[in-house]
Amino acid sequence: MGLIVQKYGGTSVAGLDKIKWVAGHVIRTREKGNDVLVVVSAMAGETDKLVKLSLQIMDPPDERELDVVTSSGEQVSSGLLAMSIKALGRDAISLQGHQVRIVTDNAHSKAKIVRIDAERIKKALAEGKIVVVAGFQGVDEEGNVTTLGRGGSDLTAVALAAALNADSCELYKDDVDGIYTSDPGIVPAARKLDRISYEEMLELASLGSKVLQARAVEFAMKFGVTLHVRPTAKPDTEGTWVVEEEEMTHLENILISGVSSDKNQAKITITQVPDSPGIAAKIFTPLSESGIIVDMIVQNVSIEGHTDMTFTVPRTDFKKSIILTEKVAKQLGAKKIISDDKIAKVSLVGVGMKTHSGVASRMFSTLAKEGINILMISTSEIKISCVVEEKYTELAVRALHDAFELGEKK
Ligand code: ASP
Ligand code: MG
Repeated sequence: MGLIVQKYGGTSVAGLDKIKWVAGHVIRTREKGNDVLVVVSAMAGETDKLVKLSLQIMDPPDERELDVVTSSGEQVSSGLLAMSIKALGRDAISLQGHQVRIVTDNAHSKAKIVRIDAERIKKALAEGKIVVVAGFQGVDEEGNVTTLGRGGSDLTAVALAAALNADSCELYKDDVDGIYTSDPGIVPAARKLDRISYEEMLELASLGSKVLQARAVEFAMKFGVTLHVRPTAKPDTEGTWVVEEEEMTHLENILISGVSSDKNQAKITITQVPDSPGIAAKIFTPLSESGIIVDMIVQNVSIEGHTDMTFTVPRTDFKKSIILTEKVAKQLGAKKIISDDKIAKVSLVGVGMKTHSGVASRMFSTLAKEGINILMISTSEIKISCVVEEKYTELAVRALHDAFELGEKK
C-alpha cells in the first residue's frame, strides 16, 4: 500500500462518460488500500479551442492573460472528476496549481517548476480524500497563473510523484497502449515496447513523438521517477515502463528502440559569411535571445576566408528566424540567405548504438535505396537524425522501421 499518482490525458476525460469511468477506476485503486493522487489534462481539444479564442482577440496574445485562459481547461476537468468521485460516494477534493502550490518561474506558457509545497495534498490524503490536481498549471512568486508548456500535465504528474515520493506514476492514455517503435499511424506494423530507457524516451519525445512531454521525461530521469504509460481502456494490460537504462534486461539484443519523424522543421543557410572568430555567436545569439531553439548546425569548410552556415529551427519559428537572420546577414556582409521549410527530420533512437557500429551506414543505404536524398545529418550517442524533403517523411520512416526489423519480436 502506498501512494499512486495517476495522470489522465485529454482523450481519457473527453466527455462525461469517460470522466465517470475514470472516477470508478480511481476509486478501485483507492479501495486496494492505496492513497491516490490524480492529475488531469483538459478535456480533449479544449486547450486548442482556448488558444484559438485568444488569438482572435490578439495575435500574438498577451502572455499573462493567455495562461489565465488556457489553464481553465484543467480547472473544469479537475472539478468534474472530483465531483464524479463524490457522486460515487468517495471523498475527493480538486486542487488548482496555485492551491497546491506548484510554484514556477514567470516564463508564461513554458514556465519551469521551482518548488512544490505539498502540505495541502498531504493533509487531504491523510484525511482519506482522493486528491485531483489540475495539470499544466502553476503560479509564480507574485501569484500570477502560469502554464507548463503543451502536454504539461505529464510534468505536473511527474513532479508531484517526485515531491511526494510516490510509489508509482501511471500515465493513462486513451489513444495509445504505450510507447511504440514508431507512430502506428505511419507504420501499421509498429510494435508496443515493454520497456524503454529515459534517455531513449527523451530523444523520442524531443524528436516529435507526442506520447509524453519531453520536459516531463527529463524531470523523471533527473529524479528517478519510474513511469508507466498505460491504456485507459484496458487498465489491466501492461503498457510501457520508462526506466533506467540498467533496468533494461535484454539490452544486448536491442539495437534500435524507435524511428520517429518531425515535420516541424525548417532550414536556413547563410552563404559566404566572413569566417572569423565570433561569427557563430553573432548569428545565433539573436535567435536564442528570442527563445528560438536551433537544432542542427552545419558550418562548411571555409574557402578564401568565407564559409556557409546552415541550421534548422522549428517551422513554427521560421518567419521570425528569417527576419532575425536577415538582419545579422546584412551586418556581417554575408552574400545571401537560402531557406526551405518543406523539410522533415527522421531519426533512429536506441541505446544499442552506444555499443554497436554500422547503424548510420545501414540508415543511409536504406534511404538511398528508396531514392531519398539526405539534406543534413546529425548524431548523438543514441540517435541519428537525417533531414529529408518533407514529402518523403512517411516513406523514410516505414523503410527504416522495416530495415531495422522493429516490427518483429526478437
Ligand atoms: N491541456 C494541455 C495541452 O493540451 C496540457 C496537457 O494536456 O497535458 O497541452
Ligand atoms: Mg496531453
